This record gives sequence, structure tokens and C-alpha cells, in this order.
Amino acid sequence: MHEYSLVQALLKRIEAEARAHGARAVHRVVVRIGPLAGVERDLFTTAFDVCREGTLCGAAELAIDGEDVEWRCESCGAAIPQGSVLACPSCNLPARLAGGDALILERIELEVPEHV
Ligand SMILES: [Zn+2]
Repeated sequence: MHEYSLVQALLKRIEAEARAHGARAVHRVVVRIGPLAGVERDLFTTAFDVCREGTLCGAAELAIDGEDVEWRCESCGAAIPQGSVLACPSCNLPARLAGGDALILERIELEVPEHV
């Protein structure tokens, strides 16, 4: 399942980041997943639970933010409602996807030992 490879890549990135900051653990991971990202949230969460075992994310809380699907005109930037013809009424140009396909690591919260 591709959620597993996504999560593994994500965990690798988080670990690298955490180590670069000298963190002992990761408290919280926030990812943003749009409905068009092709990622099943439930599967993603399950994969995270399975894959994080033995990593710095072992006790981390996973938060998933959503994102709205948004289409915009490439030329004038007007928002184009879904369900209609996906083209700008004024420019007659095809709409471009401006949101909804995100799969982004938004934020990680680290436990960093205090400097003495
Ligand atoms: Zn336009």
C-alpha cells in the first residue's frame, strides 16, 4: 500500500530533522492532506502507528489537517466553483488546481533537552 511508503519516507524526514535539532523525541507531527492527494487518512494513520515503532516518533501524536479543493484561473486568479465547467468565465481559460492535492509535513514538535 502506498500509504506505508509515504509514512516511511515521512518518518525518515522527521528523524533527520529531529536529530539535526538534537531532539530526544517527537511530541507531535502535523501533516496536511488534501482530498485529492490520493491518500486514505485512515490508512495513513494506521501506517503511522505501525511504522513509528522504534523511531523518535514512538510516542508522537499524529494530527492530520485537511485542505479545501480550490480551482483558480491561471490568468486572473479568480476562484472557480467546483461542479461547474472548470474554466474561467471571463478569460475562458481552463482552471488550474490551486489546493486540495497537498501532502505536506506542516509541523513537528520536538522534545529537545534543555541547554545547561
Ligand atoms: Zn480568468
